[in-house]
Amino acid sequence: MLIDFHTHSTASDGALTPAQLLARAQTRGLQYLALTDHDTVAGYLEAVELLPEAAELTLIPGVEFSCRWSGATIHILGLGMDCEHPAMREGLAQLSDAREQRAITIAQRLAKLGYAGALEGAQAVAGVSQIGRPHFATWMVAQGHVADHNAAFDRYLGQGKTGDVKAFWPELAQVTQWIESAGGAAVVAHPLKYRFTGMKLRRLVAAFAEAGGSGIEVISGRQTSDQVAHLQRIAQSFDLEVSIGSDFHREWQHGADLGMEIPRIEGLRGVWERWAVATAS
Ligand code: AMP
Ligand code: MN
Ligand code: MN
Ligand code: MN
Repeated sequence: MLIDFHTHSTASDGALTPAQLLARAQTRGLQYLALTDHDTVAGYLEAVELLPEAAELTLIPGVEFSCRWSGATIHILGLGMDCEHPAMREGLAQLSDAREQRAITIAQRLAKLGYAGALEGAQAVAGVSQIGRPHFATWMVAQGHVADHNAAFDRYLGQGKTGDVKAFWPELAQVTQWIESAGGAAVVAHPLKYRFTGMKLRRLVAAFAEAGGSGIEVISGRQTSDQVAHLQRIAQSFDLEVSIGSDFHREWQHGADLGMEIPRIEGLRGVWERWAVATAS
């Protein structure tokens, strides 16, 4: 059985519209899909209207919240929450504002480097999508300021560069509580992407568990079996559920496509079991 609990659409920085993402998931034979756009559920709300009741595919409400912990930007997935719950409404509104404010700051910083017009440029690229650094990168490429997206992140937008503005994100405990109060499962996204030492990663997961979080992603895109085993051990030591997802943004030969087989997870609980998806043992 194929499932995927971490995907993006054009509501944030994915290339496929919610309708196209649903179609791709159905063509590939997925049974469970969570659409987890950055800081918005607009794509999910659009997709759920499009899905016929008799569909083989079950769509799970999702979001990927940006937050701060110990000076780093961390991504926390919300799965299966009530999007209309007051805590979620407050969180989503706060994050939309944060993204607008952050975009202004990013543009001011780029202007100081001689790149004027970044805010209007990135806003035009984003359109109605939740604005983010990829939209700035696309604008920089279109202006000829950099050769490609990678160069834009490497030089201006990536971790530690001038456009990496974290100040507007809420704290890890806050976003975890929004999700959990709305009946969802808060899940630490791609734990290895933060490039923490093993010790720091355990400190992050401890803080997250302490805040009431439910799970961690043990498979995110393509990982080695050693990495999966490492993350499963962390889940076990903090008694957390495990989740899996492709982090699909677009078709890309180096990235994972939609849909993953449920792994063997002896002694662990899959977050998917909340939707009565059986785990092979
Ligand atoms: P934001 O959500 O605005 O902070 O932007 C982060 C997003 O940019 C991530 O979710 C990725 O989709 C994308 N991204 C991050 N780093 C890179 C990179 N080095 N090259 C291309 N895209 C990136
Ligand atoms: Mn993204
Ligand atoms: Mn992420
Ligand atoms: Mn993601």
